[in-house]
Amino acid sequence: MDSEHDVRKPRHSTLIEEEKEALKSISATSKDLHDVLKGIKSWSFDIFEIKREDLPKLVERIFVDMGLFEALPLDARKFFGFVTSIMGQYHINVPYHNFRHACDVLHAAYLILTLVEAQNMLNTLEIFALLLAALCHDVDHPGLTNSFLSVTNDPLAIRYNDISILESHHASTTIKTLLAYESTNILELFSEAEQRHIRKLLVEIILATDMEQHFKIMDMLKARSTESRPFECSPPFARKSSQNNSGSSSEGGSSSSQNSNSSNSVQSSPSSTRDAVLLLKMIIKCADISNVVKPFFLSKRWAALLLTEWFRQGDSERKLGLPVSKNMDSANPVALQ
Ligand SMILES: [Zn+2]
Repeated sequence: MDSEHDVRKPRHSTLIEEEKEALKSISATSKDLHDVLKGIKSWSFDIFEIKREDLPKLVERIFVDMGLFEALPLDARKFFGFVTSIMGQYHINVPYHNFRHACDVLHAAYLILTLVEAQNMLNTLEIFALLLAALCHDVDHPGLTNSFLSVTNDPLAIRYNDISILESHHASTTIKTLLAYESTNILELFSEAEQRHIRKLLVEIILATDMEQHFKIMDMLKARSTESRPFECSPPFARKSSQNNSGSSSEGGSSSSQNSNSSNSVQSSPSSTRDAVLLLKMIIKCADISNVVKPFFLSKRWAALLLTEWFRQGDSERKLGLPVSKNMDSANPVALQ
């Protein structure tokens, strides 16, 4: 990740103190959750003020705010079961790629949808898939990079043939969690076509977080931006009346006003699908590294956590006799580039 964070100060002075503070913050909270959530619609929102065990409430609040419980056949108990299961699969001892980072990326995606108004260009299923993908995009992350897993012949590298190792694992773990238990299958009340569509979107969005894909995705964006045709939205999501078995009183209407008489919500023209998927990929990519452009008190904290994780990998590399990766040498910290 590129960063402007200044780490040129000697490692054994302020940085160590900042790392300690940041690590403490994983479980720290001083304010009432209700008060903290009042600031949710701001880039200054301090997610470190929420206890880890309260983070599912932030997740629920975002899905409620986006109107997804009204628009979609979501069972609130299963939703909570799914979120809790995903939270349990994030590693509590990984400094950066933990459940708090997942919720931070979810929150950033929520702000891009609402404050930047990207929600007006997406239908409800696409918004749902994006937020779900943000929540799950690093699930079961071991705090090591793809290249480390590859060079050490980690079982994950073998399983995924060294191709988008972690991202493939995050996507696969997400789908497995959805399907593993009745109590976590939040897609159960969707039609089979809708389930397939959501799964496809989840995989595409999560795989887009692989920085190996960065230039390919940027080339797609550049090519699309040279086309003169306007952004083509997918058809609004609307459920058939026969599918309305969830007990929800409202269908097809998120906060972005998805109302339509369309009888098949997952049909769209190829170009609209391409536009929506490209936008979804851009949103998750921006959200995933958004902490570097947040107010400095937040970005500094995240940078300290990321460096702690990287230095741990650097220490492992040294122990294994491997070259220490760039930016990961705790004995020789340099300014990030
Ligand atoms: Zn991430």
